[in-house]
Amino acid sequence: MARVLILGGGFGGLAAATELRSTLPSSDEIVVVSASDRFFMGFAKLWDLAGVRPLDRGTRSLDALGHRAIRFVHAEVTAIDPGSVTVSTTSGDFSGDALLVALGTVPSPHHLELIAGRGHNLYDAAELPAMHAAMESVTSGRVLVAILGTPFKCPPAPYEAALVVVDRLRQRGVRDDVAVDVVTPQPMTLPAAGPVASRVLAGYLADQGIGLLPGRVVSSVEGEPPTLRVRAGEEQLDCSVLLVVPADKAPPVVEASPLTGPSGFIEPDRTTLRTSYRGVYAVGDCTMVPTATAQLPKAGVLAATEGRVAALNIAADLYGGEGAVFDGHGMCFLEVPGRRVAILEGSFFAEPKPDIHLTDPSEANFERKQAYERGLLAEWLD
Ligand SMILES: Cc1cc2nc3c(=O)[nH]c(=O)nc-3n(C[C@H](O)[C@H](O)[C@H](O)COP(=O)(O)OP(=O)(O)OC[C@H]3O[C@@H](n4cnc5c(N)ncnc54)[C@H](O)[C@@H]3O)c2cc1C
Repeated sequence: MARVLILGGGFGGLAAATELRSTLPSSDEIVVVSASDRFFMGFAKLWDLAGVRPLDRGTRSLDALGHRAIRFVHAEVTAIDPGSVTVSTTSGDFSGDALLVALGTVPSPHHLELIAGRGHNLYDAAELPAMHAAMESVTSGRVLVAILGTPFKCPPAPYEAALVVVDRLRQRGVRDDVAVDVVTPQPMTLPAAGPVASRVLAGYLADQGIGLLPGRVVSSVEGEPPTLRVRAGEEQLDCSVLLVVPADKAPPVVEASPLTGPSGFIEPDRTTLRTSYRGVYAVGDCTMVPTATAQLPKAGVLAATEGRVAALNIAADLYGGEGAVFDGHGMCFLEVPGRRVAILEGSFFAEPKPDIHLTDPSEANFERKQAYERGLLAEWLD
């Protein structure tokens, strides 16, 4: 009997656990360890913010894994020893024949200190009630969406959030009184997808009167209401409501493990997702996967695909066979007002640069996004 340890119950971990369960003999044990006992998709937070649907309706309990003969351990991983394929957790130590690390990221502590309670972390579900309250009460000034550093999850999401904010201000009849801007350290909206897709997204923002301030690195946030100081040119940005996107870091337990590479993330082989340790794989946001021009975006869709590939390679390690290859193909939803969605799709591994296309937004694609969520929740947890 083999035992496979999966660290993390997010996109990568759940996709891998489900794939392994359908591939390995039923006598093999699959163990998912996660500090959170819930799962929801990142975009469900923006649907909550937009008033489309409360977050709890898109949330599922990881206890459902038990019904699929996958053991769920609700615990925090405190140490990873890839050499012996052993992990320490707050519920004891576990050893396995194979290990998949899919622990996601944490927000940069430096960026959380920078805002020191003066703004809301747009990506933190716990901040949703406060963000709703801010959206309901703002009547003048500016709502500023500030990307504080890179890499960050789901590159289109801060821009989608700005579009959501505009929609809500319009519904309240105060759109003409409140400016909405996005400030980013990046030179364009979607560097991983390239200048063409970036220009299209910038056009959607301009159509809604959203200001785009690229190439700005926020160096401090002071006062109440907050003023942001931008390095390189003593520029000051005042706002009534500040929504920030902190840079992502690998979780401390990953950083402290020998798995982490010079990027600060795990750097597995980009096609097999194998690390340099035998039987040890890593997928999703806790990894850094290079492309010809930058790195693979941190996205749930890609984490899930990687999770399936890693699962098939683990099965091949244990029982033989060819395994699987991640070819860098992926897609990402970009939601615009009116329940319409554009889709970024293509090959992130294309040479000499990623070959990513952006479709026009459509209601049919909004339905595709809903079906994507429905399908995976049903496959993994319903
Ligand atoms: C607002 C927003 C919108 C988004 N929209 C999209 C979108 O439209 N499309 C898309 O593809 N992606 C989107 N994303 C990004 C997507 O959510 C992430 O890229 C995805 O969740 C990454 O999957 P993962 O498995 O690597 O990590 P996660 O899904 O973050 O899972 C990490 C898991 O590890 C667990 N964990 C962490 N540390 C420990 C520890 N020490 N011990 C035990 N368990 C631990 C966590 O509890 C969690 O279960 C969005 C994100 C946000 C915030």
